[in-house]
Amino acid sequence: MALIVQKFGGTSVGSIERIKNVAARVRRTRDAGHQVVVVVSAMSGETNRLVKLAYEIDPEPVSREYDALLASGEQVSTALLALALNKMGAPARSLLAHQIGLRTDRVWSRARIESIGSSVLMAALERGETPVVAGFQGIDAEGNITTLGRGGSDTTGVALAAALNADVCEIYTDVDGIYTADPNIVKRASKIARISYDEMLELASLGAKVLQTRSVEFGMKYGVPIHVRSSFDESEGSWVVPEDATMEQVVVRAVTYDKNDARISIIGVRDQPGVAARVFDLLSEAEIIVDMIVQNSSHDDSKTDLTFTVPKADVIEAQRLMERVAKDLGADSVRAATNISKVSVVGVGMRSHSGVAAKMFKVLSSAGVNIQMIATSEIKISIVIDEAYTELAVRVLHEAFGLDAAPA
Ligand code: ADP
Ligand code: ASP
Ligand code: MG
Repeated sequence: MALIVQKFGGTSVGSIERIKNVAARVRRTRDAGHQVVVVVSAMSGETNRLVKLAYEIDPEPVSREYDALLASGEQVSTALLALALNKMGAPARSLLAHQIGLRTDRVWSRARIESIGSSVLMAALERGETPVVAGFQGIDAEGNITTLGRGGSDTTGVALAAALNADVCEIYTDVDGIYTADPNIVKRASKIARISYDEMLELASLGAKVLQTRSVEFGMKYGVPIHVRSSFDESEGSWVVPEDATMEQVVVRAVTYDKNDARISIIGVRDQPGVAARVFDLLSEAEIIVDMIVQNSSHDDSKTDLTFTVPKADVIEAQRLMERVAKDLGADSVRAATNISKVSVVGVGMRSHSGVAAKMFKVLSSAGVNIQMIATSEIKISIVIDEAYTELAVRVLHEAFGLDAAPA
């Protein structure tokens, strides 16, 4: 008998028919003798609908109420799935964050899980009931409802699996595994049987939304195997597991992209100590997350350009902040661009292979794609390009690094 956490994404619970299918799958797992804890997202489209409602009232909604609103989608899907299970004769109980004691900090809309009480869940399992837990939501120390960031039900799933010492966390979604590129963009993407936590962490944080980044962090920290698979069939999916010796043999594991960043350039700042500190201090005080940073070499001896990327959602505020200090820094102007995207190649094999960057740049230049910024780490290379070239860049890199599946 295994203890399995099964997390179902929005599409998987997108209609009553699908909820019944999920219930049948949970029931089959139980009938096979396993204990199951279920985590669900809101029905597909629901969280976006709630976001829109909030913005219709206030384009800058009060954070506490925004989180309270967004968390409501999961209350509906947990109760519906628990109803479906009970109707099938499989006792089940819907549980919200406050009912199981899923505590987070109070960083609204991207709260971090601090602790999870396992007693309510264990008691339900001992009574033979299936707990159906609401993903994405938590409560802070004062009992306020918080949310874990978009896609956060993945993190609820893996964190619960860690807290309960489960054998596996299964992530059921609308694709049948993790691919070498988003299969909805690259038709010839191939399914990856096993991927290391490190690679998946990079892929997730560089835009592959199949798993939320923090869910992979939890998996890695607590050694929870994650099995990403389809909720529509029984096929084996992809496993996220510790790295092994065979994994380095593949140089580039996958290509991914992210269209959620914007670029800000401060043109002609003084090339002297303290400038970067001032700029990034201001951004960090405003809780704006800066990703890539490039400082060009001086035009002459005294002036330089400082360019960085921030989430698109924060670009107006970041630009406002930079314009406020531009004069102090002696800058000529501040420019913002939202029509950019970041394309990345990821693979643990890069640690022991040289020439990946050179090949990447050559392939892009042959395709006529201009590179605006570059960032590298041990196992990834990211470039910023014009957003219009995103799909082209992903496809040519996918092919050049030998990731295309053989034609059927
Ligand atoms: P869910 O609602 O089940 O959480 P998501 O939409 O959050 O589903 O994540 C699944 C989607 O992730 C897929 O439909 C696919 O378009 C996207 N995706 C992006 N990159 C990848 C990848 N490398 N492999 C698989 N899916 C990917
Ligand atoms: N319902 C939330 C969202 O749409 C959480 C999730 O789906 O994981 O972001
Ligand atoms: Mg998701």
